[in-house]
Amino acid sequence: MTAKYKRIMLKVTGESLLGKREFGIDFEAVLALAEKIKKIKETGVEIAIVIGGGNIYRGASAAKFGIDRSTGDYMGMLATVMNGMALEDALNKIGVQTRLQSALSMPSVAERFIRKRAIHHLEKGRVVILAAGTGNPYVTTDTGASLHALELHCEVLMKATKVDGVYDKDPTKNSDAKLYRTLNFEDALHDRLEVMDSAAMSMAMENDLIIHVFDLFSDDNLLKAVQGDDIGTIISNKVKTVLA
Ligand code: UDP
Repeated sequence: MTAKYKRIMLKVTGESLLGKREFGIDFEAVLALAEKIKKIKETGVEIAIVIGGGNIYRGASAAKFGIDRSTGDYMGMLATVMNGMALEDALNKIGVQTRLQSALSMPSVAERFIRKRAIHHLEKGRVVILAAGTGNPYVTTDTGASLHALELHCEVLMKATKVDGVYDKDPTKNSDAKLYRTLNFEDALHDRLEVMDSAAMSMAMENDLIIHVFDLFSDDNLLKAVQGDDIGTIISNKVKTVLA
């Protein structure tokens, strides 16, 4: 098993930690995710992870109930720190070395995000979990993932989701929806395809980052993606848009 990449950024949504629950953290689900990460670690690839918080809190939803948007967003960032702690604990339990870094200062539970220190940990073979996104409100952890992927010189941003890639229309509502094998950034932005938030997409496009979208829950997909197998959707400036 060899990895196609030397260093990857993995964006994991908070929903991946839900398991069968509607809210919060299911530790079985966290352990299952940790096992998948351990498998790809064994290929030798360096792994940085940006963890979301949507299983606990999202600022945009809170704003609808009257909470100041920035306050809600900071609460959302705190949720990602809890998820990061849970994932770190699960990885440590199965023998994977980690460092949790947070974009908000929280010295009792996480290191502060320091780019060069994160790179040092990656070079030492530690899985670096990045919590609190960018540390700023009005964006999501997708933007944190694009930003940190660029800062840490990751070759690809893997967006692991519940669907098996990007479709031309919503596959849950349209039985004729088609999956993109490859997708050019200009087409993705022009057609407003919902891949990541638009700030994250623009940043990736302007800086030539490759995004790989695939279904995290399907067997060994994460491993397949790391090995460069043809699964899900690859979004890049260098590919033509091709439907499956
Ligand atoms: N958030 C933020 N700034 C960031 C990252 C996250 O304000 O840089 C807040 C925002 O409210 C967001 C919440 O944290 O909704 C949880 O993150 P996200 O929605 O990205 O989680 P996911 O959908 O990936 O589970």
